[in-house]
Amino acid sequence: MKPFVASAITLFLCAATAPAAAFRAGVGRVDITPPGPIWMSGYASRNHPSESVRQPLWARALAIDPGSGGRVVIVSTDLIGLPFEVADQVAARARQQFGIERSHLLLNSSHTHTGPVIWPNLASMFVLPPGEEQKLKDYATHLVDDLVAVIGKAVADLSPAEVSFGFGQAGFAMNRREATPSGVKIGVNREGPGDHEVPVLKVAGRDGRIRAILFAYACHNTTLTGEFYQITGDYAGFAEAELESVYPGSTALFIELCGGDQNPYPRSTLELATQHGHEIAAEVSRVVNGATQPLRGRLRTAYQITSLPFAPQDRATYEADLGNPKASPAARQRAQRVLQAIDAGHPVHETPYPVQAIRFGNSLTLLALGGEVVVDYDLRAKREYPGEPLIVAGYSNAVMCYIPSDRVLREGGYEAVDSLVYYGQPGPFAPGVEGRVFDAVHAVMKKVGR
Ligand SMILES: [Zn+2]
Repeated sequence: MKPFVASAITLFLCAATAPAAAFRAGVGRVDITPPGPIWMSGYASRNHPSESVRQPLWARALAIDPGSGGRVVIVSTDLIGLPFEVADQVAARARQQFGIERSHLLLNSSHTHTGPVIWPNLASMFVLPPGEEQKLKDYATHLVDDLVAVIGKAVADLSPAEVSFGFGQAGFAMNRREATPSGVKIGVNREGPGDHEVPVLKVAGRDGRIRAILFAYACHNTTLTGEFYQITGDYAGFAEAELESVYPGSTALFIELCGGDQNPYPRSTLELATQHGHEIAAEVSRVVNGATQPLRGRLRTAYQITSLPFAPQDRATYEADLGNPKASPAARQRAQRVLQAIDAGHPVHETPYPVQAIRFGNSLTLLALGGEVVVDYDLRAKREYPGEPLIVAGYSNAVMCYIPSDRVLREGGYEAVDSLVYYGQPGPFAPGVEGRVFDAVHAVMKKVGR
């Protein structure tokens, strides 16, 4: 009896005197490079499948368990965006197989435009030759399996870790909403809002070896433009690869922030994509090697689906698009989809919209918004929640379209109006979209104690 009592007391003392020992982390990675030529996403001008693989695409996962409040799994993907059809299946299986609740799982996409179409995300953008649609559906099916697998790997890898964070800066993100006499166009707007912050999460083993680096930036992952037909992760993919070679054995995960209206500047060549990737990787290294603050405290999470209404539209608008030979193929495909939905008795008036908060004690909060979020959301959230460090991610959990702020919606242009056609959505959002998103932001932030 005596030895048992003694060891129980020893255990209790260890737990009481070494709280840092409770932190565990795990990483996993799965190659999600398409197995052969595949239709690439992001640019309506695409007219043939991918030609080669310049860089493999990865799904990477980081599990963090601070010892109380459960564990969170953050998944990064070198992909343009996950539709609800993929994300919901992954989340359901993660709950079933690993007991991970929805609020404890964050799925982010880097928004590379040199990767495959993730069916049915942006399906209206392309008129696909026979056979291409089935390849995309097969890819999406395998992707669900791969994302579940990468979550499982990260959870299985959980082991004692030191987790800390810091912030750097990278300068290549440029507001792209350029005012012209004929309205806002995609261009260069040096005076427009932006956020050059580079949040960094560093995960080290007990031996000090870097096991994982999570880094993030608010900028479209679109250095490479529509004439480029090689598969790559664009600047984010090049940054991940560079960090993984600088820190052998580590996993580097990129998280896309609210870069909906930000483009890399300059852009359009492979050299620039690697240059931007190097700029951000070097900055992340500087932060990793400098003084970082420890992540600490109990994990708290909240996840909410709200709904964002579209402005009312007339059936006649879509019929006109269908009958107009000058309408773009995308506009005609969008019209077809919308009319089919109306005729089937389930017209689309709104979109579901996911909002999530993940907080570690009172050291750091991660706010994760769905869709292609413009930077105004990041700036407003940081204004409303000063003090404790806050990371505001976009492109999280599902990407259903752009999410303009009230200002951007009023001004119009690609992010407010034109892009909705490619996403197959009925039309621009109703005024007040920003307030509806922030109602949900306030709700999840309150649930995590902010
Ligand atoms: Zn985009």
